[in-house]
Amino acid sequence: MKPISNSPSVEELHEWDRLHNLKPWSMMNTWREEEGQIIDRGDGIYMWDSHGRRMIDGPGGMWCVQIGHGRQEMADAIADQVMKLAYSSPFSTGTEPAAILARKLAEFAPGDLNTVFFTTGGSTAVDTALRAMHFLNNRRGMPDKKIVISRERAYHGSTYLSATVSGKERNRTRFDKENRLVHFLPDVDPYHRPEGMSVETFCDQKVDDLEQAILELGPENVGAFIAEPILCSGGVIVPPPGYHKRTLEVCRKHDVLYISDEVVTGFGRLGHWFASEPVFDIVPDMITCAKGLTSGYLPLGACIISDRIMEQMTGPEEVLFSNGYTYSAHPVSCAAALKNIEIMEREDILGHVREVTPYFQERLRSFEKFPIVGDLRGMGLLGCIEGKVTEGRASLAADSDFGTRLDMICEENGLLLRPLLNMAVFSPPLIISKPQIDTMFDIIEGALEQVSREMG
Ligand code: PLP
Repeated sequence: MKPISNSPSVEELHEWDRLHNLKPWSMMNTWREEEGQIIDRGDGIYMWDSHGRRMIDGPGGMWCVQIGHGRQEMADAIADQVMKLAYSSPFSTGTEPAAILARKLAEFAPGDLNTVFFTTGGSTAVDTALRAMHFLNNRRGMPDKKIVISRERAYHGSTYLSATVSGKERNRTRFDKENRLVHFLPDVDPYHRPEGMSVETFCDQKVDDLEQAILELGPENVGAFIAEPILCSGGVIVPPPGYHKRTLEVCRKHDVLYISDEVVTGFGRLGHWFASEPVFDIVPDMITCAKGLTSGYLPLGACIISDRIMEQMTGPEEVLFSNGYTYSAHPVSCAAALKNIEIMEREDILGHVREVTPYFQERLRSFEKFPIVGDLRGMGLLGCIEGKVTEGRASLAADSDFGTRLDMICEENGLLLRPLLNMAVFSPPLIISKPQIDTMFDIIEGALEQVSREMG
């Protein structure tokens, strides 16, 4: 057999990647057939593929590269921590970067959310939040109070438990889910509300749906409601004004925990460290975060728990909170998060996001002029273009390739997007400048013109 070279040709790389690297969420009928893209390097808002083509990183990695690619300071902070202390068991010891980071997150989080449990990413943060709810209700003598209410199209992760509460594409997978533990409500998508219904009435109905579900399942059986402030992977769905505040009130009324999954919306995406309080006026019981916490430079997540809940989880008897990972609070990841936060503070990246958001959203909304476009939505530096489904226009059926086509054309012109069925979503690095926003939307506009000619 041919020896494996450490410096393969581009062709070899593509072949090995195609034959041996099973990627997350692969389509199993085609995964070995499709030649994927190999990304070679990144700098600022740009990435270069293995053929040397430069592209704007429209998805910001995967909603995470807040400070942009290729920051020397990040590399130095990571290297320094490796040399100082690469690892120490989180089960028995703390480390300087973990202690400082926990203190910072407690400061950034709203209200009394002061206790931080570090995880390896978003899925394990959600898993931790749900296990904390199980622990709490077992401890309170309410062992049946475990059902999680979630929403269709929501994405909360890929561990068994976080996948169980994810509504996105459930119908297209062959994985088992723990269905007894979850109850799904329809998604809260104002664009697809019944014809003639006002957004206010739609919101009333959605809040009512939650309360009715709790009453039908029995408040003694419902442990938590989990919601992304903006439902991102399911299509950047912005809920109607007041929805989160009112659903939180419903949860409080029925002693149901409110878990705000800020894996995407946290760390500046909406111009704040967390969106829950400043944007949506809620102080949830737990917040989960990951991604932008390190700008994707290293894996790290966290579940931040309120004092109110911690007090009920803590007591005189000896009970183990037996949740944790070898790489919980990894000192190198925590050092990366601290440097990421330092850069964001020094460069006032949150202020920058707040400043450029109106322009970003205005350029997005300008695509209203394309009849092929159904909905344009977003908030902060999050955007989504949804194709219009029109009867008789077969190529634009709900499952159409509008998103893929748009993405392909943009890619040919130097911009990566994230296609999602009939939609294309984007969340560029937060350092994106106004002229770069223009370049990005100019490329999308050209692609929309082309797709309109092909499909319209
Ligand atoms: N929660 C939300 C809202 C997410 O968008 C994601 C990932 O996209 C997750 C949880 C899972 O995070 P991870 O992929 O880091 O496990």
